[in-house]
Amino acid sequence: MENSLIQLNRITKVYRMGGEDFTALHEINLRVEPKSFMSFVGPSGSGKTTLLNLIGGLDTPTSGDIIFCDESLGGMSPDQRASYRRENIGFVFQSYNLLPVYTVYENILFPFLLANLKESDVRDRVMSIIDQVGLIPQVSKRPSELSGGQCQRVAIARALVKEPRLVLADEPTANLDKENSYQILELMLDLNKKFDAAFVFSTHDEKVTKFVRREIGLEDGYVRWDKRRNGDGDWKLAA
Ligand code: ADP
Ligand code: MG
Repeated sequence: MENSLIQLNRITKVYRMGGEDFTALHEINLRVEPKSFMSFVGPSGSGKTTLLNLIGGLDTPTSGDIIFCDESLGGMSPDQRASYRRENIGFVFQSYNLLPVYTVYENILFPFLLANLKESDVRDRVMSIIDQVGLIPQVSKRPSELSGGQCQRVAIARALVKEPRLVLADEPTANLDKENSYQILELMLDLNKKFDAAFVFSTHDEKVTKFVRREIGLEDGYVRWDKRRNGDGDWKLAA
């Protein structure tokens, strides 16, 4: 059997709201291979963000287990989950989540500062990823001086700078126009080929479909379909 990067075993998530239970995910089973480039698609409220947050260790399932590289997240303490996140995962959000008072350079350096690394030891790595996302001319600018597309490039560089095994991107093109969305998707696809990182998105943006190699349809917290591209680029439903 091919090795998995992530395995979800009967993942259920129930939210408690004012004494009422709401099941956002129903017994989801799923395997994601290393270096995947795939998306969860579905209408608002279908459970996409919930699923990404569980995979990223930002939240815990009500039942079921998530295995990341043979390690169970269910057995981790909150501290262990935090280091799992720092060491293995880069996050990209719809609204970029950049630090407004920091420059492009400082925003991308930030994950290393959190890990107590010295700037002089990582400067070259930070500059290299800034170059790869095409932001050398903007290196000393602050987010307010950048376009939305440029802000998302900073966020992608920040997610990748520590070379995680997985990048989770929650609706990364939702705030971008068509031109910028295509550029961001092309950039992520290019980085997916260059780095040893899987990219897993959520989206309800039809444009994303053109780029991904696998698409999983979510509705009301259920997986409705799972399709992959074959060698010719045609879609094939998983058995
Ligand atoms: P999507 O990202 O596909 O829009 P979400 O994962 O955000 O969907 O939400 C799935 C369902 O779970 C929605 O009905 C939403 O209202 C509910 N939900 C999400 N987060 C919470 C929460 N913290 N508390 C209660 N209900 C929530
Ligand atoms: Mg969402």
